[in-house]
Amino acid sequence: MTFDDLAAEMAARYGKGRYHAAALCREIHRNGNPDWHRADAFRASPGLTRRLMRDLDFQTGQILRKQTEGDLVKLAVGLRDGETVESVIIPMAARTTLCISSQAGCRMGCRFCETGRMGLRRNLTAGEIVGQVYLARSVLGYPVGNVVFMGMGEPLDNFASVRQAVRVLAGDHGFNLARRRITLSTAGLVDGIRRLADPDGPLPRLAVSLNASNDRIRSRIMPVNRVHPMADLRRALLAYPLDPKGAIFVEYVLIKGVNDRPEHADELADFLSPLRVKVNLIPCNPRSDHPFGPPAPEAVEGFRERLTRHKIFVRGRAVKGRNVMAACGQLGGNL
Ligand code: SF4
Repeated sequence: MTFDDLAAEMAARYGKGRYHAAALCREIHRNGNPDWHRADAFRASPGLTRRLMRDLDFQTGQILRKQTEGDLVKLAVGLRDGETVESVIIPMAARTTLCISSQAGCRMGCRFCETGRMGLRRNLTAGEIVGQVYLARSVLGYPVGNVVFMGMGEPLDNFASVRQAVRVLAGDHGFNLARRRITLSTAGLVDGIRRLADPDGPLPRLAVSLNASNDRIRSRIMPVNRVHPMADLRRALLAYPLDPKGAIFVEYVLIKGVNDRPEHADELADFLSPLRVKVNLIPCNPRSDHPFGPPAPEAVEGFRERLTRHKIFVRGRAVKGRNVMAACGQLGGNL
């Protein structure tokens, strides 16, 4: 719940309002304090505190397993009904990033992705999404600085819960993360991008998992493209509001012999030319039954140079977490 939701709920249920809602948001969302009931505001209202403890649900998941590779930590989070999702803590130079899941499984079926093989098991609630941020904080002992919806699931396929989770993460009584600290990555659900662009909603930064330079290749590796072809996707991206210096992140998983040739780089640059973008090149990660191979390092370098020559800003992403199946496209692979 956001502060406003909580204030309305508390007024309706208990005749208490904004003071206690603000205290609860501060203790739970901001401080991650499991002993919130010992805070002054609640010690002074023991009757209310008892009712809150009875009525509210504070525990939306628990850590079942922790795997580490260097400083990266992958968490398997068990949900109440027995489903498991994964989140990945990625310490970076300036702040720690948390990659979270929005669905158990995914129905988009991208062929290079482990989660896609599971099919959709169910959507997560907003509480289960935000709960992953609590759990990461409890592991780290400090709050994460960036949250990226790039774990299991297509966030825009679980629109209402994801939008509510973004509201809680961005809320100034809550986690208070700035817009540029929350990134939502989509496989290209055009209607969802349009709905997300609503100026009243909190606007996360947008990333799109593109992975192809033309419809033929994209439809082959990402079935969503058969419903939302690249021209439609580009129109939706062009309409997405950006900060003055903002850009859309374009993720491009390089797959050997499929989308990694110089002509693909030229075609991609042409497709992206009307957009303000930053491109992440991600060498394809191994999947358990491995239909696609990682590109040769020279192919990655050549692709990057070619895009740069077309004046496209490119970031090569360091490959982290492969050994614990925590890298891009590998989540859910050993659940
Ligand atoms: S890449 Fe993302 S959208 Fe595609 S199957 Fe995997 S989790 Fe789903």
